[in-house]
Amino acid sequence: MKSAYIHIPFCKNICSYCDFCKIFYNEELVDRYLNELSNEINDSYNNEVLDTIYIGGGTPSSLNIRQLNKLFTITSKLKLNKKNEFTIECNFDSITYEKIDLFKRNGINRISFGLESINENKLRVLDRTISKEKVIDIINYCNKVGLNNINVDLIYAVKDESLKDLLEDIKFIKSLDITHISTYSLILEEHTKLFIKEYNNIDEDLDREMYDLICQELKDYDHYEISNFAKNKRYRSKHNLTYWNNDEYYGFGLSAAGYIGEVRYEKTRSINKYFKHDYIKKNGIEYLSIKDKVYYEIITNLRTKEGINLKKFKNKYKHSLDYYYNYKELLSNNELIEKNNNLFIPSNLWYISNSIIVKLLEGDRNE
Ligand code: SF4
Repeated sequence: MKSAYIHIPFCKNICSYCDFCKIFYNEELVDRYLNELSNEINDSYNNEVLDTIYIGGGTPSSLNIRQLNKLFTITSKLKLNKKNEFTIECNFDSITYEKIDLFKRNGINRISFGLESINENKLRVLDRTISKEKVIDIINYCNKVGLNNINVDLIYAVKDESLKDLLEDIKFIKSLDITHISTYSLILEEHTKLFIKEYNNIDEDLDREMYDLICQELKDYDHYEISNFAKNKRYRSKHNLTYWNNDEYYGFGLSAAGYIGEVRYEKTRSINKYFKHDYIKKNGIEYLSIKDKVYYEIITNLRTKEGINLKKFKNKYKHSLDYYYNYKELLSNNELIEKNNNLFIPSNLWYISNSIIVKLLEGDRNE
């Protein structure tokens, strides 16, 4: 077991595009939730030493100091490697110096901020607010106290956004001199406010141009995954690499997903069920055959720069990838590249990586 993801579903503001499992912050509800989270971890954690913990949400920084102290008492039960990565997600509107000091005292060594944009039009569409001054002040404070492994999220492809707007966002984020940038093309999800308002996704050509602009502007970063950029290799997100390397992880809390042994699972999104210790979502357990595991290996690994390590693959699955899938044509079309025992999608084709993965899966030798 490599990692643990812990979901804190509370937010003080609900964004128009949000499809995550989230609940309006309520002090009493958070207290009950933390008690149940503690029970859940006590029930299922098997004392392994973990490489990474990721506290995500929701907005973990929306919790007050007393609740954050309680959260860290709970996470202190999880054993961590000396060279661990321990991340917490924060929003700029709920973060304070006091909370940052508390994070530092409790072993947090990476912060991921939901910035998304500084453009007023985009923020209005997304139902978010942000103050540039606060962003700069908080990043400076994190660096001052030595919490200098910082990710910032950027959203693009928002209604009426121009390439110029996006460029301004990228330039601002670059000026923060942080160690990691995650980018997201806005996808319209059902049941979100934007979907209900019959908002349309932007034109696909413009979306492509925006992706290219991001890649171009961040070319000095280590573009190690389709949408993720690290200042250098050292600052790649170890936690997210657990997912992309198809390694095992716990998922604790409402809606959290996990992968242990022969099982992938998803926790319930219903807080009432969760409070009754009924943690797993209906039909939320998937039992994995070898073939299923190979499938997950392909769709996760091929998101990364290095792709599938063919030697590791053979050790893990007893046969070479070619035994399971015929991908000769993709190699001859240069849609897949094989080099130094790695099989990967060249970065100039990352924008269409999904269609390349689908083609690879169509080469299933057992069908
Ligand atoms: S996007 Fe983040 S902050 Fe906004 S509602 Fe969703 S979880 Fe909360």
